[in-house]
Amino acid sequence: DLYGDKGNMMVLQKRCEERGISITIDTLSIGDQRDLRAYDLLFLGGGADKEQMMLIDDLLSRRENIREAMEQGTFVLLICGGYQLLGNYYKMGDETIEGLGVVNIHTERGDSRLISNIVLQSDLFPLPIVGFENHGGRTFIEDYQSLGKVLSGHGNNDKDKGEGIVYKNVIGTYLHGPLLPKNPHLCDYLLQTALNRRFGKVDLPELDDKDELAANHYIVKRFAQSE
Ligand code: GLN
Repeated sequence: DLYGDKGNMMVLQKRCEERGISITIDTLSIGDQRDLRAYDLLFLGGGADKEQMMLIDDLLSRRENIREAMEQGTFVLLICGGYQLLGNYYKMGDETIEGLGVVNIHTERGDSRLISNIVLQSDLFPLPIVGFENHGGRTFIEDYQSLGKVLSGHGNNDKDKGEGIVYKNVIGTYLHGPLLPKNPHLCDYLLQTALNRRFGKVDLPELDDKDELAANHYIVKRFAQSE
């Protein structure tokens, strides 16, 4: 829940409620026993290096359960520190945190932090995804599909112009707190995918996204379009 990542779940809840879709959100702490295959969506926010180290044993103890949930098509949204732990490892100087190894990617801490507003173009929808990134780790995803191409900002590793990852119904990204508030199209993509999996094809009524889209357009215009 670094940098307000938990707000993403508030947005998800609100967009369900406005459509009359009932939603239950459970928060899991270290040691809480739960079968993660029972959920439609799993969410893990970001965390500082120290917090990632505190969490990792608990996360590894759930590895098979998480892998099975992913394989059965559960939607999984991971942000920053959570995204890094999906891969094989996160190397921080002399110390290395073992990751879940669910996808064959890895992260290494660089000399500087990559801090910026960020705009990306995804293949998932025409509207750009906007957000804010703040990470020391550089993630290398090799041949996996990225969430989008960086139009402005740093992305996965500041080199290959990719940001995040899309794998089955898993999205990993470095975009923090305002991910779903400023990207209602991404929130609905996630909801639609989760609902379709459980109920077959479901119609998701449109909502009035005037303010959310204005925020999105403002960031795109400010950072990714020259006047
Ligand atoms: N500790 C990780 C890094 O600095 C992730 C930080 C975060 O979640 N913002 O790269």
